[in-house]
Amino acid sequence: MGCPVQPWTPCRCPTGSPTHCKEPHRHVYPERNPDPALRSWVSSAQAEGADFTLQNLPFAAFRRQGSDEAYRGGVAIGDQIVDLAAVAQAGIFSGLAAEAVQAGAREQLNALMAMGQPAWSALRLALSRPLREGAAEQAALQACLVAQADAEYTVPARIGDYTDFYTSVYHATNIGAQFRPDNPLLPNYKWIPIGYHGRASCMNVSGTDFRRPQGQTRPPEGSHTPGFGPSQRLDIELELGIFIGSGNAQGEPIAMADAEQHVFGLCRLNDWSARDIQPWEYQPLGPLLSKNFATTISPWIVTLEALAHYRTAFTRPADDPQPLPYLDSPQLWTEGAVDVQLEVLLQTPQMRDQGVPAESLIQTNYRHAYWTIAQMVAHHTVNGCNLQSGDLFGSGTLSGPTLDQAGALIELTTGGKHPVTLANGESRTWLLDGDSIVLRGWCQKAGAARIGFGECEATILPARQG
Ligand code: CA
Repeated sequence: MGCPVQPWTPCRCPTGSPTHCKEPHRHVYPERNPDPALRSWVSSAQAEGADFTLQNLPFAAFRRQGSDEAYRGGVAIGDQIVDLAAVAQAGIFSGLAAEAVQAGAREQLNALMAMGQPAWSALRLALSRPLREGAAEQAALQACLVAQADAEYTVPARIGDYTDFYTSVYHATNIGAQFRPDNPLLPNYKWIPIGYHGRASCMNVSGTDFRRPQGQTRPPEGSHTPGFGPSQRLDIELELGIFIGSGNAQGEPIAMADAEQHVFGLCRLNDWSARDIQPWEYQPLGPLLSKNFATTISPWIVTLEALAHYRTAFTRPADDPQPLPYLDSPQLWTEGAVDVQLEVLLQTPQMRDQGVPAESLIQTNYRHAYWTIAQMVAHHTVNGCNLQSGDLFGSGTLSGPTLDQAGALIELTTGGKHPVTLANGESRTWLLDGDSIVLRGWCQKAGAARIGFGECEATILPARQG
């Protein structure tokens, strides 16, 4: 079999052509991952630090703020949204891109996701061309723009199932060390991408505030009766969300080589956690109420195609177990990981009252993950489990190698022992009512266009009384 035509990773063979190449590796279509020098007539796409460049084109579901319009798919460019329903109505695309934009015009993106990678790619290319400076179709597309400032968003897909993984070995080690200082990592960790089934109904789009959860906690010292009340140990989990595009039939595993074709894209994800509810409830079946009161995702989904220039080698220390064959592939070792810079910011009520912007608490990078996106997909399906369009994976808390790169307060404060001091003198061990958390993510390097994820934000409201 010749080279599979999978356009989101670079071809390193001498022919550089999908039609002539016989090597088992992949190709970038230059037009679909346009030259970083290409500019859009939407001038804000070129602004310093712009997340939504011409090379990004992420997807969301949106409508005009405060309106009773139907939600529909949109694609970000600069500070604007290309309204996919308006593009579909205008009838300016043909072929596969026309079918894809019809699917993208629906209230959520599942139909577009189900069409598969060639359709997503065709739609991105069809949108990219008329958005470029000098494009003849500028006027037609200009009529389809809605300002992001005027928009509101919804969860971009109907999420059938949510699976949360645990792919940062640094997070697993930091957490394990708090319970088993001599043996922090359990023996399965380096063999299996650990995960558990979460709950999709509590998935919120960025900007949706939520109440502090209440629940049972461990019996206090000297008592046999558990505590009950609002969580006093509310925490964040800095994660990436991974949206499944095309699914698989039950009983038909997805191989590593095909895994990324099934992935629609990535978003930012904050898997809020109640650290005092969790230890009392999680044995023997795992967390339940400590995790399922709210999870926040960014509205924008960045495709893997847009991230092609930020793929990087997967590494595995020589002394560690090497991946079993079903978790291994040649592409894994050349470009299995993704170089995404990640940040968490906190704004307290006092900062908000004084007009002080959110303060950066954590900076880390997705490339530190122990298990990759393809490995999560291959592992999840190896038993025959069927994934469906719109299913969401959480990467798990993405802590980096040093403690200041830890992706949760439980690590930053060493289990609550060492509060974090903020620039204004306030401190936090766990989150307090009124605190806002903002997650950001972006890719940036010389010779490639910046690719940003936008923001994933929510504010904690007081617990329900009684
Ligand atoms: Ca999690």
